[in-house]
Amino acid sequence: MAKKTALITGISGQDGAYLAEFLLKKKYKIIGTDRRSARGNNWRLNRLGILNKILYEEMELSELYEIERIFRKYKIDEVYNLAAQSFVATSFKSPLNTSNITGLGVLRILETIKNINKKIKFYQASSSEMFGKIAEKKQNEKTILNPQSPYAISKVFGHHVTDNYRKSYGIFAVSGILFNHESPLRGEEFVTRKITLGFCKIINNDLSCLELGNIYAKRDWGFAKEYVSAMWKMLQQKKAKDYVISTGKTYSIKYFINLVTNYLGIKTKWVGKGINEKLVNLKNKRVIVKINPKLFRPSEVNILKGNSSLAKKELDWHPRTDLKKLVKIMIDEELKYYSNNS
Ligand code: NDP
Ligand code: GDP
Repeated sequence: MAKKTALITGISGQDGAYLAEFLLKKKYKIIGTDRRSARGNNWRLNRLGILNKILYEEMELSELYEIERIFRKYKIDEVYNLAAQSFVATSFKSPLNTSNITGLGVLRILETIKNINKKIKFYQASSSEMFGKIAEKKQNEKTILNPQSPYAISKVFGHHVTDNYRKSYGIFAVSGILFNHESPLRGEEFVTRKITLGFCKIINNDLSCLELGNIYAKRDWGFAKEYVSAMWKMLQQKKAKDYVISTGKTYSIKYFINLVTNYLGIKTKWVGKGINEKLVNLKNKRVIVKINPKLFRPSEVNILKGNSSLAKKELDWHPRTDLKKLVKIMIDEELKYYSNNS
């Protein structure tokens, strides 16, 4: 069978790197795109040892002509749209840019597919953030969307427009509604990686105290490396359909910190309440975590918990890594690379 060609937007990001690794094992030819400013931001692909196995192209999602150029240049079978302004906190500061990239960027790609080749299959990276203030205890494909940030609102637009192009033009276009997924390749601004890196700095005496926002928010965290296989599976189905991908378990940021300190063998105690709550290292009595109210978001998503029964049944996709194991994976790799890079 001829080699399939996949275009991955956001190749320099966490999921782009893991998905490229996954598809290379399946013998795909990979075209990886990022924006001009991202040149040189290739540490993830480098770490996975696949930097030289990908064809790179510049494709800024705000520029329709750049998207069209790539789609005319290659014969593409599958598109995975992972590029986005993906950080919720930044979306409050840059709502217009977020809408343009994370929202309208999806439409630009779908328009290009519609105009150039309707046979190209399209995967959209939808997000559990779309559920926002949740309407159901466990969220599935039918749960009402109630977004709470410019990021989530932009993702809702991308989600609906993907559905609309599927129904209106018969394009094989699907959205994977992925709950938070983390790994050693996660961006340092996201809370799990901020914590694992922060603790690595603390034990190396490069940081005295980690500052966090709302430690009572709860997330359904899975392992990113496992989640990318679900993206591919969705595009191999007979029928184009959206799927929720999650672990079905939810934990607070505070619980995540406790798993990290336990794994590192640091004896600690939480003291105080509200914005005065602190984590104390019992060995030297130093405060190692404190709350910074500036890190609270204008509007918060307090809890997310997914129901991925449909994916289990139809995609035979199952989460295998629990949070304790994920913490171990993240901390082990953090410690391995920290001293080399610092
Ligand atoms: P990352 O933030 O790690 O990667 C985002 C990618 O998008 C980067 O390659 C980034 O390039 C690129 N990008 C940003 N702006 C532009 C632009 N203007 N034009 C072209 N490319 C751009 O995200 P993840 O890998 O974690 O997530 C992948 C996708 O999945 C995202 O769409 C995210 O919103 C979504 N998602 C992620 C979840 C998660 O838990 N990780 C959960 C649900 C959905 P650069 O290197 O320059 O920043
Ligand atoms: P999100 O679910 O896509 O917003 O992923 P994040 O990892 O950015 O945030 C997860 C949760 O952690 C949110 O409820 C944040 O409010 C909370 N949180 C608390 N402190 C911090 C912090 O210092 N940084 C980040 N990124 N999130 C924090």
